[in-house]
Amino acid sequence: MELNKQSDWVARSLRSVWHPCTQMQHHETIPLIPVSRGKGAWLYDHEGRRYLDAISSWWVNLFGHANPRINAALKDQLDTLEHAMLAGFTHEPVIELSEKLSALTGHVLGHSFYASDGASAVEIALKMSFHSWRNNGHADKQEFVCLKGSYHGETIGALAVTDVALFKDAYGPLLRASQTVMSPDARQAADGETAQDVARRAAADVERLFTERADKIAAIIIEPLVQCATGMAMHDPLYLQLVRALCDKHNVHLILDEIAVGCGRTGTFFACEQANVWPDFLCLSKGISGGYLPLSLVMTRDEIYQAFYSNDVTRGFLHSHSYTGNPLACRAALATLQIFEEDDVLNTNKIKAARLTAALQPLAQHEQVRNFRQRGMIWAFDAIDAPKDFSRRFFASATEHELLMRPIGSTVYMMPPYILSDEEIDGLAANTLAVFNQVMAG
Ligand SMILES: *Cc1c(COP(=O)(O)O)cnc(C)c1O
Repeated sequence: MELNKQSDWVARSLRSVWHPCTQMQHHETIPLIPVSRGKGAWLYDHEGRRYLDAISSWWVNLFGHANPRINAALKDQLDTLEHAMLAGFTHEPVIELSEKLSALTGHVLGHSFYASDGASAVEIALKMSFHSWRNNGHADKQEFVCLKGSYHGETIGALAVTDVALFKDAYGPLLRASQTVMSPDARQAADGETAQDVARRAAADVERLFTERADKIAAIIIEPLVQCATGMAMHDPLYLQLVRALCDKHNVHLILDEIAVGCGRTGTFFACEQANVWPDFLCLSKGISGGYLPLSLVMTRDEIYQAFYSNDVTRGFLHSHSYTGNPLACRAALATLQIFEEDDVLNTNKIKAARLTAALQPLAQHEQVRNFRQRGMIWAFDAIDAPKDFSRRFFASATEHELLMRPIGSTVYMMPPYILSDEEIDGLAANTLAVFNQVMAG
């Protein structure tokens, strides 16, 4: 009898594992793929088939699977200190990581607070914003503003500032209401309007709301440059400049959720660098550990840190998670940042991005495609008149073409790891075209 067969793993998984973001019944018709190992941009199943991880395993993997440099750092850390609590104790990986991150903001965001997943980082930013206003005598500032189509995670607090109906509607009765303003999504441009015009219109909506009730508003939360989970909606950096100015004028905090767009994904290390602004709170997760371990953090300004600094315990930020500042996760992040330096990643990515954009031209020009768009290492386009179940059919067809891709509705996107070879780039483009044609043909 053959042990470890692909089909046995599928059956066992479906009997005992509840998979995320999935209607489990769909696995009666679409494949569940047991992965046996990963190497570079590729995932391998138990029968030796391989899949190019074109979405970086949900946007986390920056430098490939089983990366030798990150592996070596983790093996060393494993033999040194696997974990210690971060209240009352501290350690080298968390100190070095906090110093390096602060330096990357020119020390504007001087302190980092740690958690494990992105949603928790968002919760922390919301709580810190509210609490710092309260400590400064503005306890009435209790409301949060988010953008149409925003996504900030799926815990109750993060879902309250998320505007994706599919994830939010079922839990509506549990959520605290937030204010939703127009998205700056450049696809909304009317005839003759530029992306900057859309940015100005969207900022005017923020101004209207701030003028009316800024005294009640603690913060606005934004995914800078690309609203990813709603379908890779891209906007002009001007929007961030205009909103930063409005936040300054009306005394509202700016929270930038760089969980998906940070770590070089949009072309600069932080997306907000392209607008030349810094937020009051910056959330990072996903790619920061190279896709190895759960790690998230919130960076903030020293003025905000000072608002909690007191001899009164209740003025402190008493939030915590068991694995706050986990040394293994921080060490993975340090190894990741070191690769950015050693390999001049931001510049190398420009060359890779130009090659993939060129290779994708048959799709950009395709008569069933609109809104082909790219920023940094993110590509997306929308299918015109996509057939029913487009996303699931695309996923299934992609697996037959050695690709891991998971469209959002009728939006196909790529967010590959930063290590693709020229050959892998060309193969990714050619196979995506083949999959698209097959799915659109029905
Ligand atoms: C993924 C994501 C989150 C949530 O992160 P989790 O680790 O999945 O909780 C929050 N904000 C943005 C922009 C994201 O893309």
